[in-house]
Amino acid sequence: MTRCAALIVAAGRGSRLKGRVPKQYRPLGGEPLLRRSLAAFAGHPAIAAVKVAIHPDDRALYDAATRGLPLLDPVMGGATRQESVWRGLESLASAPPDLVLIHDAARPFVDHALIHRLIAALGERAGAIAALPLADTLKQASDTAPSPVVATTVDRTGLWRAQTPQGFRFPVILDAHRRARSDALGREFTDDAAVAEWAGIEVALVMGSEGNFKVTTEDDLARAERLVSGEDQNEYRTGFGFDVHGFEPGDHVFLCGVKIPFEKKLKGHSDADVGLHAATDAILGALGEGDIGVHFPPSDARWKNAPSHLFLARAAELLEKRGGALANLDVTLICEAPRIGPHRAEMVTRLAQILRVPEARVGVKATTTEGLGFTGRGEGIAAQAVATVRLPRRAGGDS
Ligand code: MG
Repeated sequence: MTRCAALIVAAGRGSRLKGRVPKQYRPLGGEPLLRRSLAAFAGHPAIAAVKVAIHPDDRALYDAATRGLPLLDPVMGGATRQESVWRGLESLASAPPDLVLIHDAARPFVDHALIHRLIAALGERAGAIAALPLADTLKQASDTAPSPVVATTVDRTGLWRAQTPQGFRFPVILDAHRRARSDALGREFTDDAAVAEWAGIEVALVMGSEGNFKVTTEDDLARAERLVSGEDQNEYRTGFGFDVHGFEPGDHVFLCGVKIPFEKKLKGHSDADVGLHAATDAILGALGEGDIGVHFPPSDARWKNAPSHLFLARAAELLEKRGGALANLDVTLICEAPRIGPHRAEMVTRLAQILRVPEARVGVKATTTEGLGFTGRGEGIAAQAVATVRLPRRAGGDS
């Protein structure tokens, strides 16, 4: 199997971002930026090893930022990006991988799909980089800074913006960096594709992503922060429901919306469907909306003999009104009889219909109490339900 390593370049001082802490260690959504950049590689199934090139002064920051991540020991970077990469490659050379992906620590939004595209492209070529075709019109400025004017418009046909990761067959890029050090003195290569190009290596352009931007300025950091907090615009809440109804003479029961022929019926104001009542209370509980009795008082004649799917549908409607959605509902029916197993699939279907969610989000289970207690003596049926709901987090706090 192809062995792929990742080399993350984090040795820069980030002179464009003010602050005592270098930008790769600045917090982003409560986590150091570097940690986010690393996590995509450390958690990727095709990446066997991750190595970071750091600034010698940053060892303590690095240790704190990467605690618990499966990484090789860091390597000390050099004065330039090119030197840091070369040192990183040399540090991998004793146990050389087949492929190496070189990535800037300042791009924390690299994703698994992009990593996968690059590795796939390296099956064809010795080099492959993430890049985006240029969409903006390019202007060449006259040299009248600080108030430049347009000298000419540059044809953007065939122009791409290079990102990282940049991937290479390991021996090829190691050799290119070694030769660049000895033979291209005085030239500073700003990315590894430039080193590869100088060395005559063919480099494929692989579609990057706008999300994979480099955090360079304070504006970038603010944009990154907005993106990260965007992931957190929802919150999850859980509610619990419990219900019991006793038996009385009859010939059927309703459980989770399914009519089951039985020698007794459940006694209650409505159709006494304990499963639907517990489920309704679970959702109302997750919403902090009281219980089924608040919404459908037994004193109200409207609910006399009412089919209980109305109650559950109402709870689902309240959830929808809050902009939320059901993550899952799990109902447990507790009785000796009737037997639930033969009706379980129909119950799941019915609950999913009432709630208007996929069946995969609904669970129905049944248990007996081994002959103990009121359910064991066949005096009635109990039901428990747990519902987890997703709700949009309100701006400005809890409301
Ligand atoms: Mg009830």
